[in-house]
Amino acid sequence: MAKTPFLTKEKAEEIIRKYPTPFHIYDEKGIRQNADNLKKAFSWNEGYKEYFAVKATPNPFLIEILRDYGCGCDCSSLTELMISKAIGAVGDDIMFSSNDTPPEEFKYCNDLGGIINLDDITHIDIVERACGRLPKKMSCRFNPGGVVKMSNGIMDNPGDAKYGMTEEQIFEAFRIMKSKGVEEFGLHSFLCSNTVTNEYYPMLAGVLFRLAVKLKNELDVKIKFINLSGGIGIPYLPDAEPNDIFAIGEGVHRVYDEILAPEGMDDVAIFTELGRYMMGPYGALVTTAINEKHIHKEYIGVDACAVNLMRPAMYGAYHHITVLGKENEPLTQTYDVTGSLCENNDKFAVDRQLPKIDMGDILFIHDAGAHGFSMGYNYNGKLKSAELLLQENGEVKLIRRAETPKDYFATFDCFDIYKNLIS
Ligand SMILES: *Cc1c(COP(=O)(O)O)cnc(C)c1O
Repeated sequence: MAKTPFLTKEKAEEIIRKYPTPFHIYDEKGIRQNADNLKKAFSWNEGYKEYFAVKATPNPFLIEILRDYGCGCDCSSLTELMISKAIGAVGDDIMFSSNDTPPEEFKYCNDLGGIINLDDITHIDIVERACGRLPKKMSCRFNPGGVVKMSNGIMDNPGDAKYGMTEEQIFEAFRIMKSKGVEEFGLHSFLCSNTVTNEYYPMLAGVLFRLAVKLKNELDVKIKFINLSGGIGIPYLPDAEPNDIFAIGEGVHRVYDEILAPEGMDDVAIFTELGRYMMGPYGALVTTAINEKHIHKEYIGVDACAVNLMRPAMYGAYHHITVLGKENEPLTQTYDVTGSLCENNDKFAVDRQLPKIDMGDILFIHDAGAHGFSMGYNYNGKLKSAELLLQENGEVKLIRRAETPKDYFATFDCFDIYKNLIS
């Protein structure tokens, strides 16, 4: 099965005349359809809200599209909070799910009226000191430990993860928070990343719902929301089965009716903090083949590199590649597709079957819309690319310009050498 790019070769060539490669481009239509489906899949829950995980794609223009579907922002740092504030997502539209948090960021979040989701029990005192008193509404992050097994094997290993509190600590934290004036409580957990099974959310919901019932019954606290966080994955591989968001929504609904409703907790809101699922498939890295090399293996060098998309280098992640205009040509070649970093892991693909690539061919690297541009860095003095939006009317809008050497040297601007660097 092939993956279909959301750009044709002709459209890509037209865009490149104005915005040279490499660039990231996002598909507004795809983002909107997906966000609308997510909203529908959870419409059975009155308080449902998606808090987009800003770290996945921290571009205000893209997050504003999601705002049309009622999405808030899940932030975990000062600058992510600042993005949220800039687009008017404040108050209950902010979920601050940070860890190892500097106290001043708790204060900043609290000043914006955002919901603080505590990663650790020691943070109760820190928040109290930073904010003067605890906010009326707060949340805690749960880590059940152990490993998570589902029908397709071991999914992830929370026992080895730095996040969240143990069950004992959650009870203790809720008790303390209640005594210090917190009135409305939330529960949060993130157990597995990039899950491609419809079972994950219902399983996680079961764990959190049962805990919520115990907390309510033992501590007499008001549980306002349960946050299933991120982790719904996307099919990076061309033959992978995509998640069915309606089956996932229904699965959570079933568990809700089984566990929460009989306890009179059918007013609990369900929150999510999806990143990858909201943007991953709707962004691509577009790059041009600029070098070929025939040594012990066959190499195609492109004008993007791992600073533009780090996942293959960092995790050996698979990103499908389409050579635009050659969608129907036979895959006769085996290439490593590389960037120009002085690092041998700077490869977008290793031993990949592709059609014969000619210099100047345009490569569409799929599923780069989340944890793509945002993981970028500046090794080898490489500059970050532009981000473009393919709008629903077919027009392309620049939503972040490419970096220039001036940006790269900007942090020298308090030194005399700066003038020489940029002239
Ligand atoms: C990264 C992250 C998310 C989003 O994860 P995805 O896998 O992109 O859905 C959500 N919540 C928190 C706290 C995160 O750290």
